[in-house]
Amino acid sequence: MRLRNIPGAEEAILNSDYCIKDPKSHRGVWQEIFPLIQPIHIEIGMGKGRFIMELAAAHPEINYIGIERYSSVLLRALQKMEMSPLTNLKFICMDAAEITEVFSEHEVSRIYLNFSDPWPKDRHAKRRLTSRQFFGRYDVILSEDGQIEFKTDNQDLFSFSLEEIPQAGWHLDAFTRDLHQDPLLNKDNIMTEYEEKFSSIGNPICKLIASR
Ligand code: SAM
Repeated sequence: MRLRNIPGAEEAILNSDYCIKDPKSHRGVWQEIFPLIQPIHIEIGMGKGRFIMELAAAHPEINYIGIERYSSVLLRALQKMEMSPLTNLKFICMDAAEITEVFSEHEVSRIYLNFSDPWPKDRHAKRRLTSRQFFGRYDVILSEDGQIEFKTDNQDLFSFSLEEIPQAGWHLDAFTRDLHQDPLLNKDNIMTEYEEKFSSIGNPICKLIASR
C-alpha cells in the first residue's frame, strides 16, 4: 500500500466515533461498544475498508472490528463510514503484533486477513500475518471453533502460509489457488481493493481457511 502522510489523519481518527481510541481498555468487554451482543469478527490490515464495510452491511448479526496500522489509510474508511454509517462496525488504528493486549482469550470468532504485506526477506518472516508467531497470537484470542480466512495473489506468501499452518499446530480446512474459478469458496465472496486491482490484471487469487 502506497502511503502518504495525510495531514490531520491522526486528529480525524481521535475525533471519530467509529475509531476506538484506547483499544486495550476494552479487552474482554468489546461487546459493550456495540448496540447488540453478537459474535465479533475482525479484519487485520483492512486498508481502506471496502471488504469489511460490505461484509458488515451484509451481516448485521455480526459485530465487526477493522484493524489498520496506518492512520492515513484508515482515514479513507472513516470517510466512507461517515457517508454510510454502520452500527456493527468499529475501527482500531494499531499494529496487530499487540493483538493479545487488545482482545482477551477466545473473544473473537473469526479473523480475516486480506492481501497481507508479504515481507519477502526471510529475516522478516515473523512479521507476516500468517507466520507461526501470529498464529500463536490468534490462538489466544480466537474462540475454540473460530476460523481464519486469508486471501492473497502472492504465490510465495500463500505457499509459506500453507506450510506455517501445520507447523503452528493449526488445521487447513480448505484452500484454492484460483478463488474466482472455485464455485464453493467463491460463493458470497466480497472483493477487497487489492483483490479487484490484482484480479483485473489477470493474477489468480488464492484463499485458505484454517482452524484448530
Ligand atoms: N486488506 C486490504 C485489501 O485487501 O485491499 C489492504 C491490503 S494492503 C496490501 C495491507 C494492509 O495491511 C496495509 O494497509 C497495511 O498498513 C496493513 N498492515 C500490515 N501489517 C499490519 C499490522 N501488523 N497491523 C495492522 N495493519 C497492518
